[in-house]
Amino acid sequence: MTLACYACDPARSRGRRHHEEPAPTRTEYQRDRDRIVHSTAFRRLVYKTQVFLNHEGDLFRTRLTHSLEVAQLGRSVARSLQLNEDLVEGIALAHDLGHTPFGHAGQDALNDCMAGWGGFEHNLQSLRVVDELEERYPRYNGLNLTFETREGILKHCSRANAQRIDAAEPGGVARRFLDRSQPGLEAQLCNLADEIAYNAHDIDDGVRSGLITMEQLGDVTLFADFHAQALREYPDLQGRRLLYESIRRMLSAQVYDVIEATREGLRRTVPGSPDEARLAGALVDFSDAMRAKSAALKHFLLHQLYRHPQVMAMTGQARQIVHELFAAYLAEPGQMPAGFAARPDSARAVADYIAGMTDRFAAREHERLTGRRLLV
Ligand code: MG
Repeated sequence: MTLACYACDPARSRGRRHHEEPAPTRTEYQRDRDRIVHSTAFRRLVYKTQVFLNHEGDLFRTRLTHSLEVAQLGRSVARSLQLNEDLVEGIALAHDLGHTPFGHAGQDALNDCMAGWGGFEHNLQSLRVVDELEERYPRYNGLNLTFETREGILKHCSRANAQRIDAAEPGGVARRFLDRSQPGLEAQLCNLADEIAYNAHDIDDGVRSGLITMEQLGDVTLFADFHAQALREYPDLQGRRLLYESIRRMLSAQVYDVIEATREGLRRTVPGSPDEARLAGALVDFSDAMRAKSAALKHFLLHQLYRHPQVMAMTGQARQIVHELFAAYLAEPGQMPAGFAARPDSARAVADYIAGMTDRFAAREHERLTGRRLLV
């Protein structure tokens, strides 16, 4: 597969933080992807909530299946744009490694707990996981990934955090948040693939859970148009097959839209290298029309699904678990494994420990430390 001149080329990577000799058969981005798949944090994604709690049903997405769907969508688009598929896959598989248990409720609660110590942010935590927290190699902490993979993992970052990271790593992965440039096209693509994936699978999980209905989705153009199209072609279609066929068409339309809109952006700006692409604004994007439709769908999901009373009841208990775990470990660090208990930055050590937990481990630890059962 020939790469475009604007695709990231593993032979021209900005390299790793610790020098390593090249591998005999694999490119640098393939090695990154392989290291991510073998990491402890990656395996834990299977027991972390996306929207629905892990134990609420066996068919709902978890962070792991979500990450696999992002990788699939990303690779598919990367291939038609001649971007680097291995890099896209690595970023996609790693993009949620820093997520706490219990989805966004867990992250918000941990951020509250850490208010006096610089806060907690899951994108930054994903970078911490691959840079510091994984313990797999004799000579250094973390996975020692390439610049381009790390750049993609740090999807968002506050200015204060960017300044702090840039002081430790001058001109490194946080620089773009200070000079407002873009990451490589593969990283831009992963952001969009993430959005396309969760918009689609949250409809699927939402309808199957019974919290939203296909009738309600009639108000959402992006879904309703393809639902109507599927019914025109298959008038007898109903139930699950109708849902899947509508979502399948919606997914394809978004993928083709991204490919077309990005090609248009590339024709307009003609970047001759990955660095020129980084300075050319957000090139991997939806068309304006699709951007508006996607925003309307997100708005619907926010109000009808993520803030559904049944989901909110879960998030209330999840917040309580995280708050009480944080207080318990901070008061008595010896309740954590020795490596965390011994750290001088005790609040950050507690946050790192809690962030790494799966949903069920967090609930069990909470019960052990407080004697109260929540969410089980
Ligand atoms: Mg994601």
